[in-house]
Amino acid sequence: MAGRSIQIAGTNAERTRAHNRRVVLGYLQVKHGAGRAEIARSCGLSTQTVSNLIAELEQDRLVVAAGRRRSARGQPPVQYAFNPQGGAALGFEVRPDALLVALTDLAGALLWDAQRPLASSDPHSVVAVMTELSQAAAARSSAPVLGAGLVLPGPFGVEGLSMAGATVLSGWDGLDSASALAEAALGLPVIVEKDATAAAIGEVMRGSAKGLDSFCYLYFGAGIGLGVIAQGQPLRGAFGNAGEVGHVVVVPGGRPCDCGNLGCLEQYASRVALRRHLATRGLLAPDMPPGLGQTDTVALRLLAEGDPDLDAWMTEAARLLAPVIGTLENLFDPEAVVLGGALPDALLDGLIARLDLPQGSVSRRTGRTRPRVLRGVSGRMTGALGGAALVIHDTVTPRLDSAP
Ligand SMILES: [Zn+2]
Repeated sequence: MAGRSIQIAGTNAERTRAHNRRVVLGYLQVKHGAGRAEIARSCGLSTQTVSNLIAELEQDRLVVAAGRRRSARGQPPVQYAFNPQGGAALGFEVRPDALLVALTDLAGALLWDAQRPLASSDPHSVVAVMTELSQAAAARSSAPVLGAGLVLPGPFGVEGLSMAGATVLSGWDGLDSASALAEAALGLPVIVEKDATAAAIGEVMRGSAKGLDSFCYLYFGAGIGLGVIAQGQPLRGAFGNAGEVGHVVVVPGGRPCDCGNLGCLEQYASRVALRRHLATRGLLAPDMPPGLGQTDTVALRLLAEGDPDLDAWMTEAARLLAPVIGTLENLFDPEAVVLGGALPDALLDGLIARLDLPQGSVSRRTGRTRPRVLRGVSGRMTGALGGAALVIHDTVTPRLDSAP
């Protein structure tokens, strides 16, 4: 978004302290125990600074003393460890038809989740449901909730385009206004992120992208979004809209899309496209609620029955997806492309099995240790878990834009 431009930060004691705190926590999260001198040496901080930070982090229960390590001479140093149970993180995913919430500890382990249907995706009514779920989550958490990640489908602030449609939230004009609205209602710090990017960060924390530094995440929400993690950092674009891959034209002159293009990927390979297809077959009752959960249920049943029409739909969707994946590989040189989100695992696996990936790709090389395409493992809660992961990421990882 325009407000999040990169600035040269001035020296500011509070800013420096917050940054150093993240550096120390980030180090202990990876290191599983270290003494003060080691932390100081490894993080480039003075021992006094580390001692002050450790005292503060111990008080906040984010760090615990974990005994002494054997040492060749002298008094062995006290070991300090990151305490994932010292805090909790909330993640909300707003879909056009549902609100999903996940409560996790600071290691990303799920403590509680819930889902509510949404009659309207108007921000004020969504925030009212969020407030109720936030209170329910706080009541279930023995540790303080440090913040909430709010995950929305993009694009944001594109009022110049006629983007209103089944895959877009109406009324959510920008990330900044959404975050201000949610912070006021929840009384918590709120980080807003696009669903595909949040899902990608969540998948690094606890899923198929663990250990990956550069990868692409194709997110099947209602439409199709793309999250790109490059050298460990999400790629957002100038206005937070990088990755609108659902509106890449794959069939020139093809089906009209809500965005104004003809033949967008989203019109062929998304959950909304699947729903439309099943509806034309009369498999979805006309009076059913507008949610996509029914679509998933019907499609899974057809898949289990070996329905030839569903098979043909998936084959066509995979045929159009494959060159898009090849393009992503050539553009971003990822370690892998992950397919995940709300589309059920069996359908994602079916799509992946049908992909005939292009030969002409930088990702096609000998000595690969993992497949070019992976399936996400967080299932329908991917977005909400990704939201919680944003809070954890913000708590323990030094951000590039917060460097003193
Ligand atoms: Zn489109």
